[in-house]
Amino acid sequence: MALNNAGTDLGETKGHENRDMVVIDGSLLEGGGQVLRIAVALSAIRGKAVKITNIRAGRKKPGLAEQHLKGLLLVRDMCNGELENAHLGSTEIIFRPGKITSGTFSSKISTAGSVSLLMQIAVPCALFAPGPCNFNLRGGTDADMAPPIDYLKIVTSEVFAHFGAKFETQVLQRGFFPKGGGEVNVKVDNIQTCLKPIILTQPGKIISIEGSVNVGGSCPIRVGHEFKQGAESLLLEEFGCKPNISVERFNAYCPGSSFLIVGKTSTGCIFGSSVISHRSKSPAQQGEEAVAELIKFLPGQSCLDSFAQDQIILPMSLAAGTSTVVCGPLTLHTQTAIEIVKQLSSAKFEVEKISEMIFRITC
Ligand code: ATP
Repeated sequence: MALNNAGTDLGETKGHENRDMVVIDGSLLEGGGQVLRIAVALSAIRGKAVKITNIRAGRKKPGLAEQHLKGLLLVRDMCNGELENAHLGSTEIIFRPGKITSGTFSSKISTAGSVSLLMQIAVPCALFAPGPCNFNLRGGTDADMAPPIDYLKIVTSEVFAHFGAKFETQVLQRGFFPKGGGEVNVKVDNIQTCLKPIILTQPGKIISIEGSVNVGGSCPIRVGHEFKQGAESLLLEEFGCKPNISVERFNAYCPGSSFLIVGKTSTGCIFGSSVISHRSKSPAQQGEEAVAELIKFLPGQSCLDSFAQDQIILPMSLAAGTSTVVCGPLTLHTQTAIEIVKQLSSAKFEVEKISEMIFRITC
């Protein structure tokens, strides 16, 4: 008898034509790839089959793009699950999970599609494996509209550590737009008992501001130094301090550069802001813009940046106990994450408005 994580007989689920299947409308709120990642990860963790309709209906080109498809296949392989109708452009899939296994897994996106978003679907599942999981992931590491890999390595990993979840990321090669070709190894330790609830309600005082500029391929190193100058000048003006910003050259399949600036506080809060270089703006201007974005949170009343906000909804829903976080106005991604989690689990979320700019999320 094939049992999934929740102890449901898979054979029975298949035999009774989707009887216990939860149907998720992929056009909900944000209507993008995030709906798919959260629904499928939670499906694997909870051992509940899902059907997702209207996939990425909110996007110009709806349906599965390569990054989304590869994410689904990765989770299917991790849990020996079954996927129906999973092909490029598909707007409706069915996923029947099996039991999550530990081991070594790999995935390759042939474009600059984001490996960070592969991690976003695979890491939560790996936490619930019976042993550690190792991943070799290829594709874009520093792409627009996705977390740059350094954000996952530094910011997400620290936020996840509050839940008692541990993963390590090693960047072997950078993958910039348009060719991708980046390579990353990720090791995820399975949780021993359960995820711990988090209380992130005290913003605290700034204890460090550090940044890193990554210059790849034939991109001149001067670009990296210009990023640094732009970032430093604004930080000096705002805080009177010169932050520690490194400029490093990386192997990359095609030229590009990226910049991440991270602020930490005395109460364990961490905020990240990043930018991927674009020809339309000078690197100095982009460095300044990334810092300006970070300054919105430092020193503030919020305990998370606006990206970590949507990324903690899934672990909050899985933690054993009540979590509370104080953050800025809820992004559409966060509202979407909450809605999907509610449809796939019994987790209850409460959102309280403290002031125009400050909200408290409890789960
Ligand atoms: P689609 O192509 O349909 O938009 P997607 O899968 O590429 O789908 P989204 O559904 O928009 O992307 O989800 C993007 C995810 O990336 C969100 O979790 C968001 O918080 C995160 N993200 C985007 N930009 C950044 C950034 N600069 N730093 C950190 N995280 C980011």
